[in-house]
Amino acid sequence: MDRNNWEDLKARLLAIGTAQVTGEPVDEYLTRSTAGPGAGGRGSLFFSVGTYRVRLSLADVSPVIIHHLGEGRTELTVDGERFIGTLERPALHCPRQAYITITPSCIFSCRYCNVPVLKGSRKTIEEIENLVESVKGTIDAISLTSGVLESIEEEEAYAIEVVSRLTRFNIPIGVSIYPTLQTPARFKEAGAIEVKFNLEAATPELFAEMCPGLSFGSIREILRDSVRLFGRGHVFSNIILGLGESDANMEACIASLCQDGVIPVIRPLNPTAELNEFSRPDAARIKRIFRYLDAALRTSGLDPTMALTMCPACMGCDMIPGRE
Ligand code: SF4
Repeated sequence: MDRNNWEDLKARLLAIGTAQVTGEPVDEYLTRSTAGPGAGGRGSLFFSVGTYRVRLSLADVSPVIIHHLGEGRTELTVDGERFIGTLERPALHCPRQAYITITPSCIFSCRYCNVPVLKGSRKTIEEIENLVESVKGTIDAISLTSGVLESIEEEEAYAIEVVSRLTRFNIPIGVSIYPTLQTPARFKEAGAIEVKFNLEAATPELFAEMCPGLSFGSIREILRDSVRLFGRGHVFSNIILGLGESDANMEACIASLCQDGVIPVIRPLNPTAELNEFSRPDAARIKRIFRYLDAALRTSGLDPTMALTMCPACMGCDMIPGRE
């Protein structure tokens, strides 16, 4: 499939977000998430065509049908059009990565997020080491994320301990938590090579509405500081598309992050938690913002294909310029 056809297809699939499965069992291809857009759902599949990839959540009814022919060979049908591809086996959470949620619970209540209601138990460092050990021959990256169990500072200290212990695997480590001003330097010293601090909303006003008790301004400052330590193109920030921002809001946010050397990861809203009345952005909007992002990254000399960990290396849930 050529690049333009894939871009069209992926934008359409991300606008839907789900798939119905038929055919042979898919258990070995399924992943169940405790963080990210699929948190708490029935599970997800990664459908790929060559080097292209998209993650779709399982649903009883969906306009997207994934028909598993066996051994990963798959026919995907959407709006009567049929595409041949494969299902990828996830390592931990996504293909080629051990992407681990350290603490799958949270004291904050961001309105779009399911993690606070999941109330999962924090993993011990030994459990995390064993998880990485169990997949180490099949991964290119270790990625870590976390909710906040007790306080932002306590979570940071625990995540730093985890990073320090995982450096023995000699696999690139990326980390995404809610940061303090000291977090980038501490992670760098512990051995992380990339960080992702999510701005989540395109404007400070929307952020205040969506993430009570957290600070847009300090994340913005910490992102700038992170680029100084980790380098341009090795600092990422997820921004949700569909929280009520205009295209102009989103473009201004993308331009400002790119100028600072941060790669924005534009994530179509998955309407869950308190936002279950919201809608996913449509395919035309996803593509329009993708084109803007592509141009902004080029202007700033940023190349997401150099990213080694986390969402820009996975690209399951977002359109990542250079990888699509
Ligand atoms: S893009 Fe990020 S959140 Fe989505 S499956 Fe990949 S690693 Fe997980």
